[in-house]
Amino acid sequence: MIISLDTTRADRLGVYGGRAETPTLTAFAQTGARFDAAFTHFPETCPAHWSMMSGVPPELHGNVAGNRGSLYTGPTVAEIAQRHGYATAAFIGGATLQDVSCGFSRGFGTFDDQFAVDTDDMRRPAAEVTAAATTWMSAQTGPFFAFVHYFDAHFPYTPQAPWDTRYDPDYKGTLDGRDRSLDPYRRGEATPSPRDVEHILALYDGELSELDAALAPLLAAIPQDAVVIITADHGESFEHDYWFNHRGGLWEPVIRVPLLIRGPGVPAASSVTAQVGLIDVTPTALALAGLPRDARMMGQDLTPLTRGEGEGRALIVSNTDPMMPDPQESARTPGLKRLERGGAVTVYDLSADPGELKPLTGQADALAAERAAYEAAITPLLAHQGPPPKNAIVQSPEERARLEALGYLPKGPDAAVGPDGKNGPPGPPPGPPPKR
Ligand SMILES: [Zn+2]
Repeated sequence: MIISLDTTRADRLGVYGGRAETPTLTAFAQTGARFDAAFTHFPETCPAHWSMMSGVPPELHGNVAGNRGSLYTGPTVAEIAQRHGYATAAFIGGATLQDVSCGFSRGFGTFDDQFAVDTDDMRRPAAEVTAAATTWMSAQTGPFFAFVHYFDAHFPYTPQAPWDTRYDPDYKGTLDGRDRSLDPYRRGEATPSPRDVEHILALYDGELSELDAALAPLLAAIPQDAVVIITADHGESFEHDYWFNHRGGLWEPVIRVPLLIRGPGVPAASSVTAQVGLIDVTPTALALAGLPRDARMMGQDLTPLTRGEGEGRALIVSNTDPMMPDPQESARTPGLKRLERGGAVTVYDLSADPGELKPLTGQADALAAERAAYEAAITPLLAHQGPPPKNAIVQSPEERARLEALGYLPKGPDAAVGPDGKNGPPGPPPGPPPKR
């Protein structure tokens, strides 16, 4: 089972020493391994989840806004499990991971993504997600794989009592956690006061604690011998002049995610400091379940790390949506982080400067060899990109031209979709790799 806590920063969680009380996650961590340096490859829900579930980086999915699905033809963990006789089901908690948005239903016998969407809050409440998942699990008589997705930590930050005042009961300011209140700061039109930021962070922490409580009945319903992985697709930013958002930033609070793993051979109450990525989730889940991995997967089985064997990932590369202005790339070793934003490069010594506040000088070429090795690993895998999926979105000529120029869509005059936005003809062969 893979449980994804959308938009959950590792450092805020009690299980990682953060302020938000998380007794459920803390108890769960005692039954397995806690990874202290786990990172996403893309700070958006859909591409991050595709990588989590397939073991390959977002470059292979080509999955950016405007392309509702994955170009990658290799299997997901759900498809592999299904092929081996597992019942498979997904329980989706947020609008951005519904099949119509993300084309994510591949390999799932049950894809439970239909729920009433409140336009002020694109989530399905955690209690509903938990109820649907536990009902389905209780009906299973053979092996099963379930993916459970919770959207409660995603903005707006509107926890219910007692979590709404738990961490900042004395605030007298005007900001609340609703998008209407926060959008000017999100758009960079205003700068919040430190006191306001403190309050919004308290609301976010309240959401994390509220979510932790909602997880308890789900975890209680999972068989004790089941493989369970709990993680997140990305974090959230409350600093660096990038407020209350994630998709336009690659600072540590955005790319670092929680990762807790329980399964056979994973020592109880263990922790791992080696850096790992979301592409390692699927190979690990397969290995713990005794299922074969696909040879194309770039991720690795993390189980040996929990026993102090092997090494983590030498380089974690993350990208923002190349369709956005000033797209960004981060490349991270355990000691250094290279951040490219709008063509400008800054490098940080993560040991001396974990807050990424003091860029090093004269380091523009840092990690060049590591980045080249990463490119070399990806390039042959691009042969496994197929035509755009059937439910790809209709793009305007301008949007399509930009996607093509960036390598996220095959070049060609025929649109990937029909005039109704569905079931269009397949496109021509894949184009070149994405610009990086
Ligand atoms: Zn997300």
